[in-house]
Amino acid sequence: MGGFQLSLLAVVLSILSAVGDQEASPHVDGAPPSKIAVVGAGIGGSATAHFLRQHFGPEVQVDVFEKGEVGGRLATVTVNHNDYESGGSIIHSLNLHMQEFVKQLGLKHRRNVAGKTAVFNGEEVILEETDWYLLDLFRLWWRYGISFIRLQMWVEEIMEKFMRIYKYQAHGYAFSSVEELLDSLGGSGFINMTRRPLSDSLLELGVSQRFIDEVIAPVMRVNYGQNVSIPAFVGAVSLAGAQNNLWAVEGGNKLVCSGLLRMANANLLKARVNSISPVQSGEALQYQLNFTTAAGTGSELYDIVVLATPLQDSLGSGLEFHDFTPPFDHLPGSYHSTVATIVHGYLNTSFFGFADPRLFPFASVLTTDTPALFFNSVASACPVNISAGFRRRQPQEAGVYKVFSAQPLDKSELKTLFRSYYSVQVTEWQAYPHYGSSPGLPPVELHPNLYYLNGIEWAGSAMEMSSVAAKNIALLAYHRWNKQTDMVDQRDLMHRIKTEL
Ligand SMILES: Cc1cc2nc3c(=O)[nH]c(=O)nc-3n(C[C@H](O)[C@H](O)[C@H](O)COP(=O)(O)OP(=O)(O)OC[C@H]3O[C@@H](n4cnc5c(N)ncnc54)[C@H](O)[C@@H]3O)c2cc1C
Repeated sequence: MGGFQLSLLAVVLSILSAVGDQEASPHVDGAPPSKIAVVGAGIGGSATAHFLRQHFGPEVQVDVFEKGEVGGRLATVTVNHNDYESGGSIIHSLNLHMQEFVKQLGLKHRRNVAGKTAVFNGEEVILEETDWYLLDLFRLWWRYGISFIRLQMWVEEIMEKFMRIYKYQAHGYAFSSVEELLDSLGGSGFINMTRRPLSDSLLELGVSQRFIDEVIAPVMRVNYGQNVSIPAFVGAVSLAGAQNNLWAVEGGNKLVCSGLLRMANANLLKARVNSISPVQSGEALQYQLNFTTAAGTGSELYDIVVLATPLQDSLGSGLEFHDFTPPFDHLPGSYHSTVATIVHGYLNTSFFGFADPRLFPFASVLTTDTPALFFNSVASACPVNISAGFRRRQPQEAGVYKVFSAQPLDKSELKTLFRSYYSVQVTEWQAYPHYGSSPGLPPVELHPNLYYLNGIEWAGSAMEMSSVAAKNIALLAYHRWNKQTDMVDQRDLMHRIKTEL
């Protein structure tokens, strides 16, 4: 499997760079677009600006509106002179768009610092990693039978199918909805996986209930703050994010966003977009964006607009839709609150059953779905810059820890987890969809030449998912503008691509 993945990666990367050189062709009715707006400068909006530039060429003006910080949910906090990721932190080695961005921007992978993981059930550590791979394997087999092999095969099969997207996108194909995109990769099976609970899929696969409770649930809690009833597709994304081959960007993941905006030669406007309305003049449909900057209010007209921020009411984007027929409003569903608390202090290892901190061997502790537990995970955090001499602090030393929880930790909860501390920094995120709170997958095309990126998060929320959606929207916008219907929602793409080569 590893060999196959590596060769696939090489082929896909070479095709990706070939497509990057693609020239923009003119609008079949005449002019190319002159102005495009992107709302949001997280990884989704920044990657959209980058791909729009690739496809529409150097002439078009690309304006990116950002009301907060570039990076959005990719952000850092500073503790004791070092920066730590407080939002999206890990990237899978087969996330090819993220890999390609880092390569093109001349950024580096952050050095990986090994550390062992344990699972805690509120009373005791029930599962622990050791120094011995074979012993870990034997213990897994002893406790869960072949559940973990079944799971591994399931995740790999899904990833292999998902990776078809890179080929399709490299050949310029786009999809008008998240459903069409998923269907092209994994047929109705993938779409069903966005509707069916993870636990049902795993039980059907023959994974034991004990394995689900003690391994799968802790992984869902640390990655999505939710339980095993989240849909199977996002469950698989989460499990892929629990493998060994993970990385992060040296200096902070948000550097990818600022780098992409620079590379795209996009105009970054530090402004909150308040409203959007269609403006028809003759044949031409444009969109008026009204916005507020530090200097006051303004408005501009655009030929194409991409909304790269969640449109659920609770997210507070403040964006209103005016004069749409039929009227268009916010999307249903809510986002899940996850609190990232970064603590500089001494971990209370007694809470986990280790009275002597010197005997506590774990870098991270995940938790089972136990009602009494007030946190999802606690882990020794590595800074975004890792020097050659860096080593993790031992539990008997003061260190920096990241705790994920659904609610902010109160004083007594902090005292339970930490013997004492120097500083506590809290970031409350509307982190990812609260899965199950929306009836279906949101649309990509809201109106002609008006696109929505974050619907993909309802299939799975991750940096790479936003990047895949960004590439899809840039291609879709390009084909729609140039009326190239044969490049959108095409069937049997694996076969077509083989015959195209
Ligand atoms: C705690 C946490 C941990 C995570 N861990 C991981 C992980 O390990 N790996 C991973 O791949 N993913 C992870 N994720 C998910 C990942 O961070 C997100 O899926 C991804 O960053 C979303 O990017 P985006 O650009 O689509 O949205 P955002 O990053 O939310 O960007 C939207 C931007 O739009 C701006 N905006 C909103 N409204 C307006 C307006 N009206 N006008 C102008 N600007 C506006 C916002 O300020 C924001 O900057 C995590 C997320 C969180 C919160």
